[in-house]
Amino acid sequence: MRRPFIAGNWKMNLNQSESAELASGVASAVGDLTGAVDVAVCPPTVYLAAVRSALGDSAVGLGAQNAYHEESGAFTGETSVGMLADIGCQYVILGHSERRNILGESNEDVNKKVHAVLAGGLIPIVCVGELLEQREAGQTLAVIKEQFQGSLAGLTADDVAKLVIAYEPVWAIGTGKVATPEQAEEVHADLRRLLETSYNSDVAAAVRIQYGGSVKPTNAAELLSQPNIDGALVGGASLKPDSFQGIVAAAAELASSN
Ligand code: PEP
Repeated sequence: MRRPFIAGNWKMNLNQSESAELASGVASAVGDLTGAVDVAVCPPTVYLAAVRSALGDSAVGLGAQNAYHEESGAFTGETSVGMLADIGCQYVILGHSERRNILGESNEDVNKKVHAVLAGGLIPIVCVGELLEQREAGQTLAVIKEQFQGSLAGLTADDVAKLVIAYEPVWAIGTGKVATPEQAEEVHADLRRLLETSYNSDVAAAVRIQYGGSVKPTNAAELLSQPNIDGALVGGASLKPDSFQGIVAAAAELASSN
């Protein structure tokens, strides 16, 4: 079984003291569970350093919500992978639907960032997901395949084995509408097949595929018990230690029963 991975995407929320408080709350709430589950929090860039120090020596990892693909130079407002590594990040969320759909990031943009994050020794969490109209038009698997192939273009099998994929149906993000376990599993199984046909069976067996979209303590267990769902990327429910802990606890319980 792949080790479950639960990551909290705090998006553009909280201030510095609230971020530090949430980080230490999460570190103490999930401390006992990190033996069975990988856990990370992804605060706004400006609070990464404060969160790093609030996490102390806890096993909770640190992730950024974005990175730029160039190493340094005249790129006003951007943050390089080297800078993120320098302040203790291990993960970078890339291609989140809010960046694709609000900020206009293309698969090509995401692809450059995936290359840069891997080259910098960090772990990309590469998000893919369809819009509601695409699902209703029966295009879900075609959209996922296009995002998968575009975002991962030019990577070797060894590169791909290091990354994490997050399937996040856009209609389920921040809406309270969660995909059914069957809807999510269908796409996760398809992503697993894409990993196998595009790379090899070892890569397909190793890569963790998180589900994201209105995950809460009350629906986490049934989603995480699907064979190809290896964790969760959590937005709203990651902003409170109790609800985030409930999701991590569901993952830990499933891991211990397998
Ligand atoms: C997300 O931001 O990646 C997300 C899944 O948000 P939420 O859990 O709030 O739907």
